[in-house]
Amino acid sequence: MRIGLDFDNTIVNYDALFHRVALEQGNIPSDLPVNKVAVRDHLRCTGREPIWTEMQGTVYGARMNEAAAYPGVLDCLRWLRERSIPVAIMSHKTRHPFLGPAYDLHAAARAWIERHLVDAEGPLVDPASVYFEVTKEFKLDRVGEWGATHFVDDLPEILLHPAFPRDARPLLFDPDGHHAAVESVPSVTTWAGLQQRLESTWLANR
Ligand SMILES: [Mg+2]
Repeated sequence: MRIGLDFDNTIVNYDALFHRVALEQGNIPSDLPVNKVAVRDHLRCTGREPIWTEMQGTVYGARMNEAAAYPGVLDCLRWLRERSIPVAIMSHKTRHPFLGPAYDLHAAARAWIERHLVDAEGPLVDPASVYFEVTKEFKLDRVGEWGATHFVDDLPEILLHPAFPRDARPLLFDPDGHHAAVESVPSVTTWAGLQQRLESTWLANR
């Protein structure tokens, strides 16, 4: 088993941070649901797409350190480490935001991993196994080249992409149940569920 993981919205949950930044900037009403998509939709519907675009640079760059991992991420990574199951992060991320100050988004994400995906025994993901690629295609090439047996992503378009490697099994992480009926791709809604699924596969292959 070799487990490949997407980063944004799979490992990192940005819901609270987008809500906080938008609220601080006075761009949303305080009763808007604490949810990234709700913030985006609110700004779009009120004709403020550029504000949304610039806010992404703020969140993924300047404020990245405040983002939280989804519940269960650390437990699952610990379980994998205890069994010496290789883990890598493969992500498609532009180097700089489309609008606003030119933060280095790859560096911000690496710093987040170093600070958040760690416990007393050390890093939960080896920094050498963290790959930020600038296109979807490069990301999928990386998944194949690394030899992932499973790849977890929050976007069906990645898992169903024609370049998705044949030897990897796709797993959809769908915490808000946005993609209820994606045929041919098994899904989980929590990291505990993901861990359970990996545990059964691991037990079956021992
Ligand atoms: Mg993602």
